[in-house]
Amino acid sequence: MWYSVNFRKMSAETTKNAGMIQCEKCGSVILLPATASLTNVKEGIFLPPMKSEDGQGVTGFTFWSVTNMYSFENVGFCNTINNIKYLACADCEVGPIGAHLLSDKQMFYISPMRVKLGDIDKQVCEQEHAALRVE
Ligand SMILES: [Zn+2]
Repeated sequence: MWYSVNFRKMSAETTKNAGMIQCEKCGSVILLPATASLTNVKEGIFLPPMKSEDGQGVTGFTFWSVTNMYSFENVGFCNTINNIKYLACADCEVGPIGAHLLSDKQMFYISPMRVKLGDIDKQVCEQEHAALRVE
């Protein structure tokens, strides 16, 4: 199935987020520092366009992931499409900012492209993204 998930071993040891992960729009704290792991999803996860965007949405391959819903400071859920439950900001409902695959109940993914990150985390995500493209 197209949404099945495989994990590629990361080049380094598991990378945790150095700074807070916040809503880009309202600044609501989604994850505190060192609570999420940078994860590559080989098959990618499709994110529909945000309300503010035109177009087709985007398939993400690098995500901040947590294995427990209670790791989130704040998160909301929006609609479920093709067995993917999409995550949104709990305060302003901007989204989708991430996804939860119903085929893998343990994993929650936040897209670095759709949240506000600290400078270090931004760099790490860019490096990881670049590394993926080289393969
Ligand atoms: Zn928000």
